[in-house]
Order: sequence, then structure tokens, then C-alpha cells
Amino acid sequence: MISQQLEEKSIRKAKALVDSAEKVTVICHTSPDGDAIGSSLAAAQVLGALGKDVHVVVPDSFLSNLSALPGAKEIVDAAKYFDFACSLVKDCDLLLCLDFNEPGRVGRLKEALLASEAPKILIDHHLNPQLEADVLISHPEMAATAYLLFRVICRLELFNFIDRRGAECILAGMMTDTGNFSYNCSDPELYIVVAELMRKGADKEKLNRQLFNTFSANCLRLNAYAVFKKMEIFKEQHMALIALSRDELNRFHYTRGDTEGLVNRPLAIPGVEASVFMRQESDCIRVSMRSLGDVSVKDICSEYFNGGGHVNAAGGEFRGTLDEAVEHLRSNLPQIYKRFIAPCLK
Ligand code: 5GP
Ligand code: MN
Repeated sequence: MISQQLEEKSIRKAKALVDSAEKVTVICHTSPDGDAIGSSLAAAQVLGALGKDVHVVVPDSFLSNLSALPGAKEIVDAAKYFDFACSLVKDCDLLLCLDFNEPGRVGRLKEALLASEAPKILIDHHLNPQLEADVLISHPEMAATAYLLFRVICRLELFNFIDRRGAECILAGMMTDTGNFSYNCSDPELYIVVAELMRKGADKEKLNRQLFNTFSANCLRLNAYAVFKKMEIFKEQHMALIALSRDELNRFHYTRGDTEGLVNRPLAIPGVEASVFMRQESDCIRVSMRSLGDVSVKDICSEYFNGGGHVNAAGGEFRGTLDEAVEHLRSNLPQIYKRFIAPCLK
């Protein structure tokens, strides 16, 4: 099967906590993506099969393409049921924290998370975990939390408890964080896991369509408009920018998720090493960045946009107007290029 990567001591502690827990709450980050939701639902499936009373709690809603994942209907959304969600976070025997590295990432559930006296297991692949947990299983080198979770489940000797539903959720997480196995996917053991999940009945073709190839007409039009009319290439700096205002989004009846993946598009252009996408929201400008190779958009986002993330996929925000955000980027382009891009060019 796959090589052992996880520390025996953490596994032993996690096993003791799982064994002794009856009520388990699973929690993930805000604006949960396929990895956050996939991991959470898979963990819930396996813990449910063990006879635990499990709830999955999310800080806010997730994209509709994830709502077809097995178990998604049972998720408790704190944006709708705040008090219930908080009570689940506080009143449980075990809090399973998935796909986030610090308390701020759970948004409105931060206070409840910090106040909860339940033992915590953190399973995550973001850098620099800053959550006090009884068991910390942090592996930033792994492509997805779902992939790491699969390894944890195997080490806990619970492989046989993963059924088709759990397998599908783990695969959804792995597909999401690797862009359907197009980046962060050089680890050969990823594919051993995929094979095991498919053997358990995960339908990869169905997931492919659900997660990556289902769009409304408005969404397709908005993306075409963004590339045709709004994409700016900064050739000298090897960067690209797409910025969309509220008015533009409204013209295409934007709903959350409609610009998912748009930030990747300019990276298809030879010479573009880092891509920025800005979207005007009601209270701030959301910034998304993607890059190739060693160019760290995590560092760029943390320096210029109060954010962070992974080396090749990061995000942040800007307080001000969209024009100011664009100007902020523009005026810092030479510096960004010199510090973060030029040193990585071959
Ligand atoms: P996205 O561009 O899809 O919103 O985010 C890409 C990645 O960047 C996410 O997986 C997340 O790890 C990270 N990220 C996005 N926004 C923020 C932010 O505001 N702060 C931090 N620390 N990380 C972020
Ligand atoms: Mn993830």
C-alpha cells in the first residue's frame, strides 16, 4: 500500500481520543471548498460507521456543486443556525478540526472553538499551524487534507469503515486541491489512494463533472467577459490581473463560486508566472492569487493583502475601493517582481 508518513505518537493519541468519544463535532474553515467539505464528510462517514454521534459544522455556506456530496444535506451551517452550531462545537467529546491552521479561519465560530473544552485533533496541510490541539497532524507537503485524512484513517486501522460515500468525499477533496490532478500532484502515492477510493465505489467521472464542469450560462458569460475585457498582462513583471467590480458582477447575476478557477486562466499564457484576481465584495476587495513553480503567492498575499495560503495558491483582502486595490498592486509591481518573481525565473 502506501508508505508510513505519520508519527506513531500522534496516531496513538488520536486513537485514544476517538475510542473514548461518543459525541464528535467536525469543523472546517470559512467559505469551505471541496477539500474542507470532502474531508469533513468523509470523517463523519467513518466516525458514524463506528457508532459515534457526529455532526459536521461549517462557519458559512459552501458552493452548490458540493451539495451533491454524500452527507452534505446534514451539515450544520453556522450562518443559518449559529447557536446550534456553537453548542455543537462546545458540547462534544471530541472536536475534529480539518483543513485550517489557525482559529481565525473558522470565522464566526472562532469564539466557540476557543471556548470549547473538548479535546481537539487538527488534521491539516497548511503551513504554520497555530491552533492549540491535543493532537496536531500537520503535513503541508501533502496535496490535500482529504489525502492526509485517508492516511490517518488507515493508520487508525479504520480503512474498512470507509464506504462508497466516504471514498467519494475523500476523492472530491483530493480532486479539488490538485485542480483535478493538474497541480500539486507529483506524489505517486496520490494515485494509489485514488485507486483504493475507486475500488470502494467512488465515481471519478461523476465527480469530475459535478466539481469541474457544471456552470450556469451567466457564469460562462462572466468568465468569458473577464478574460476578453478585463485581463491585464504585465509582461515585464510576468504577472496578470483580472479585477471585477460589483457592477460587472451584477451584470452577469453573479453568485458565489461563479469566478472559481478564473484566477488560474492567465497562467496558461507562456511567461505569466503569477496571476491576481480581485473581486469587489460588500465590505472589501477579495484577492486571490495563483503562481507557478517557486513563486510564492503566499508571501505576496501576506505582505500586500493581509492574507496567506499556500506557495502556489493564496488569498487575502484589501480595504478600500477596487480602483485603490488595483493601484496598490500596480504601484508595488516592480517591488513584487524584484522580491518574489525574478529570483524564481530560470
Ligand atoms: P482562494 O484563492 O481559493 O480563495 O484561496 C486559496 C488559498 O489561499 C486557500 O486555500 C487558503 O488556504 C488561502 N487563503 C485564501 N484567503 C486567505 C486569507 O485571507 N488568509 C489566509 N491566511 N489564507 C487565505
Ligand atoms: Mn485543503
